[in-house]
Amino acid sequence: MATRQRAGGRPRDGSAARSEEDARRSRGQGTVGKTIRQPANLSKRVLIVEDHSLNMKLFRVLLYSRGYEMIETKDGHAGLDLARADDPDLIIMDIQLPDISGLEIIRALKGDDRTRDIPIVAITAAMPEEETNIRAAGADAFLRKPISGAEFLAIVRSLLHEDDPGG
Ligand code: MN
Repeated sequence: MATRQRAGGRPRDGSAARSEEDARRSRGQGTVGKTIRQPANLSKRVLIVEDHSLNMKLFRVLLYSRGYEMIETKDGHAGLDLARADDPDLIIMDIQLPDISGLEIIRALKGDDRTRDIPIVAITAAMPEEETNIRAAGADAFLRKPISGAEFLAIVRSLLHEDDPGG
């Protein structure tokens, strides 16, 4: 495994201090279905299904900053399984996935008594027409890429009924 270096040939600042887990995560490895816990959080678990590593990183940073527990996968089918098995409080669902459309996953989850009550935020890079399909599939909210962090967190908190401005 190559070590990432700066132009001057020095290792990145702080690299020695990072845990191996952080290093693996930043390389996008070993994160399928991985649960990342943040002790400050009192409870809420968010499943993120997103194949784009930069968007995943953005969601992770935003959710981590608020103390949410996260379950991450880049794989649509794994996302469906994790939603059923782990009973998350909220799902962030990318629509454009390589193995299955996020729309299909949303339809499956919303058509199942066990999972229909889990709120889903659809993430899409598609055109406005797609919004109709996303709503029809049963998504509770959607966000278009590029993602606004403030808007993302506002939607997350709203769907988790945490939209008290003081909280
Ligand atoms: Mn995607």
